[in-house]
Amino acid sequence: MKILFILIKFVKHNQKIISQVLKSFVFVRNKTGKQLSIVGGHTFYCGVRGARTNIWRCTRWGQCKARFIITMSGELVTAQLNHTHEPPSFVIHDGIYYKI
Ligand SMILES: [Zn+2]
Repeated sequence: MKILFILIKFVKHNQKIISQVLKSFVFVRNKTGKQLSIVGGHTFYCGVRGARTNIWRCTRWGQCKARFIITMSGELVTAQLNHTHEPPSFVIHDGIYYKI
């Protein structure tokens, strides 16, 4: 099972609470090979890959505005983790995400 944990070095002091939620990101792939990140039971996909940062958006983007931005080196830039819905039900088997 190939799960990558990234320790985040936090940039902003006032994000201490968020930092506890984001202590570990779990990166997996779905059946089609798309990378997903699981944070606090919610799933995110990488919406915009910039030169120095990646924007990860809730997989229910459009209905839900939750997102976070991390740099290439794994530093949290900003995060909005208030979801408008319950986390999805899923299993991870051999590093692959399956929605159930
Ligand atoms: Zn959401």
